Amino acid sequence: MTRTLVVIGHGMVGHHLVEKLRARDREGTWRVVVLAEEARPAYNRVALSSYLEGRSASDLSLAGDEFRRDRMVDLKLSTAAAGIDRRARTVVAADSSVIGYDALVLATGSRPYLPPVPGHDLAGCFVYRTFDDLDAIRAAAAPGRPGVVIGGGLLGLEAANGLRLLGMRPHVVEMAQRLMPLQVDEGGGRVLARRVGELGVRVHCGTATRSVDAGPDGRVCAVTLADGSAIETDLVVFSAGVRPRDELAGSAGLETAERGGFLVDDRCRTGDERIWAVGECAAVLGRCYGLVTPGYRMAEAVVEQLLGIGDTPFPGADMSTRLKLLGVEVASFGDVHAESRGALEFVHADNAAGTYAKLVLSDDGRVLLGGVLAGDATAYPVLRALVGHELTASPQQLVFPPSRD
Ligand SMILES: Cc1cc2nc3c(=O)[nH]c(=O)nc-3n(C[C@H](O)[C@H](O)[C@H](O)COP(=O)(O)OP(=O)(O)OC[C@H]3O[C@@H](n4cnc5c(N)ncnc54)[C@H](O)[C@@H]3O)c2cc1C
Repeated sequence: MTRTLVVIGHGMVGHHLVEKLRARDREGTWRVVVLAEEARPAYNRVALSSYLEGRSASDLSLAGDEFRRDRMVDLKLSTAAAGIDRRARTVVAADSSVIGYDALVLATGSRPYLPPVPGHDLAGCFVYRTFDDLDAIRAAAAPGRPGVVIGGGLLGLEAANGLRLLGMRPHVVEMAQRLMPLQVDEGGGRVLARRVGELGVRVHCGTATRSVDAGPDGRVCAVTLADGSAIETDLVVFSAGVRPRDELAGSAGLETAERGGFLVDDRCRTGDERIWAVGECAAVLGRCYGLVTPGYRMAEAVVEQLLGIGDTPFPGADMSTRLKLLGVEVASFGDVHAESRGALEFVHADNAAGTYAKLVLSDDGRVLLGGVLAGDATAYPVLRALVGHELTASPQQLVFPPSRD
């Protein structure tokens, strides 16, 4: 007998779950209804910035012809879920339609966090998460004018690059003492700031934003920093982190984690055995993951349970990253901040070349625990695979392998 799975959210992880389920559900056990708040089917959000470099929305779409033609999948675009009635086992959509389910997966992702800075809601303030956000930024961008990004993390730097691509002169304001404070250490942050600065991005670290100020027309005209200095601008992008979208939890009586997110066990199941949560909205054993790969692993764990073909727990996630931001390579892996007991550090900084490498080693210097690379991340694949193992060569040789030149 065919059962109904309702998936709320058609982002990267919700889509992955439906694709995996359909590929493995040979018996046709599940008919899938997907409620998608956005007007477009799932797209590659990780590559969103390439939309400003000329790639089209359809280039980035994840929903191929097979998916669109699949009669077992009913994708309802521009249809947000507004509530869940667990007793009746129904989801109520914002258009008041009611959809019954046998199983429900929450895949609602995150929303950008807007810090309570006075003026954050003025005309001219934006966030950077969806095609609609980028369309709005593009429409407001004025080439040659300064634009301010509030937040110097990974997404803030992406947004700064976005403004650059639109011909603007970006400033990045970061409260921490360095850029990308979560992923890199002080030395890595210094190299990053210098290289990014060379590309015309003005970096203001170690300073909070006091206010976003309005001109006589009521639109943004400046950003005032904590030291009283002001950056004249008519465009501000907030990129100060994300918060899981768990707003459906309240009416449904589902538990959330202390810092937000639908609280789920290591099988991604909520307190209700028919309801799971995956991706950025899920707090697995209380922890949210802001990267796409952990979300994919969660989706795969749920597919196994839905099809009764396995019960593999979500294995946790390796938060290692390698990125190219504004043309500058940055990688971090393992114990980036040398927090392990007795950890030693091998550091090599080449200011002339604009490169920085740090390896974090066990107290006897034999086992690799983690590290940071900035400016040149060629050694990343080898080093990442070596985390937790004895060094196979000296730190110097590992960071600068002989074949490098
Ligand atoms: C510019 C940018 C660059 C990034 N770069 C990287 C990177 O390099 N590496 C990496 O790992 N991650 C990166 N990320 C993060 C990555 O995109 C997310 O981890 C991933 O998209 C999470 O997938 P998700 O399905 O959980 O959430 P999302 O992709 O956010 O999808 C959730 C969807 O659910 C919808 N929704 C929410 N509530 C409802 C509702 N009530 N009813 C119906 N629909 C609803 C939302 O509108 C959204 O479409 C980046 C993100 C951005 C914005």
